[in-house]
Amino acid sequence: MTATRVLVLNSGSSSLKYQLLDMRDSSRLAAGLVERIGEQTSRLKHTPLASGGDAREADGPIADHDAALKAVAQELSRDGLGLDSPDLAAIGHRVVHGGMFFTEPTVIDDAVIAEIERLIPVAPLHNPANLTGIRTARALRPDLPQVAVFDTAFHTTMPESAARYAIDPRIADRHRIRRYGFHGTSHAYVSRATAALLGRAPEDVNVIVLHLGNGASASAVRGGRCVDTSMGLTPLEGLVMGTRSGDLDPAVIFHLARVGGMSMDEIDTLLNKRSGLFGLCGDNDMREIRRRIDEGDEAAALAFDIYVHRLKKYIGAYYAVLGTVDAVAFTAGVGENAAPVREAAVAGLEGLGLAVDPERNAVRGDRPRIVSPDSARVAVAVVPTDEELEIATQTYALVGKNT
Ligand code: AMP
Repeated sequence: MTATRVLVLNSGSSSLKYQLLDMRDSSRLAAGLVERIGEQTSRLKHTPLASGGDAREADGPIADHDAALKAVAQELSRDGLGLDSPDLAAIGHRVVHGGMFFTEPTVIDDAVIAEIERLIPVAPLHNPANLTGIRTARALRPDLPQVAVFDTAFHTTMPESAARYAIDPRIADRHRIRRYGFHGTSHAYVSRATAALLGRAPEDVNVIVLHLGNGASASAVRGGRCVDTSMGLTPLEGLVMGTRSGDLDPAVIFHLARVGGMSMDEIDTLLNKRSGLFGLCGDNDMREIRRRIDEGDEAAALAFDIYVHRLKKYIGAYYAVLGTVDAVAFTAGVGENAAPVREAAVAGLEGLGLAVDPERNAVRGDRPRIVSPDSARVAVAVVPTDEELEIATQTYALVGKNT
């Protein structure tokens, strides 16, 4: 029997998320998460989706990623889905930064690992964690194809005019400074799913994708290819996010250093971890912010307005970049669930052919759906993202090609 299962691993600095999929029908057999790896209070939560059984949780110290993956393997074995099974075709790894080098999913070998390592200076938080997951999985199943799927890959089609910052190119090239963009797996999946929702081929549609989760980014996708995106050298640029500032005048950083007396590390932490919605009002969860607004909280209302103002600017900017737009697609935690954000983001844009139908916009669900009125020139859509399925699909396609 041909192997049809793919294990998707998303390895963070202290966490390991996983899903096991059967690629015959893209069904999920199991999913789970190991949190707080390296601490005394680690937790493994495993959901055996194939059997429909209850989620199992185990608390207790898990020393490192190696121990975490072994614990996951044990849970999978209990469901008859062990990693030693001949049905397992490959392991797909989410890798955040692939630089300019990795434009496609890539079968992992020593040279690929070395290149991901070389990119650590531009992704100091993410690539080391991703590499730990890769090394651990390779040690456990050295015989199995392992594939790296890069967050940056979808954006490598951006033209130089969008990818370059306006600084001396010699300095930029020496330090590999350019706009790489992130969340690419989600932007790729959602732009294709939006075309499918419209009943058209991806090559025939222009889509603005708004990935609004705790991290948030927008992209302009022309005929299935990314032509601009809001994140840059790092995931700090662009939209207002849960805890990240997004765009600001770079001189703010000089000012904080020279006048505010802050160190570079302090400024880094301020802009990445203590800004955005959280910095503005003390909450980064849109549900909580909406609840506070309903109670008349002014700081929460201003945070919401700043968030939406930036979003609207990017919709306008990418409209101009694309020239014609067929759809604006909202995705991720906020984009899929927060109807008020969708409504506010397109309010007043009727001149651009954009509007939401309040009744359609209020409907909740996990299927892709159109929330604009039938008469609107541009479809406004809610398209749930599925990064794990996209990683599994790309991994399986590549392994299928190579065997
Ligand atoms: P993600 O990073 O895609 O998992 O998105 C996480 C974020 O989605 C949370 O921080 C919330 O701000 C937001 N979110 C999740 N569920 C809801 C909801 N029902 N309404 C509004 N926002 C939500």
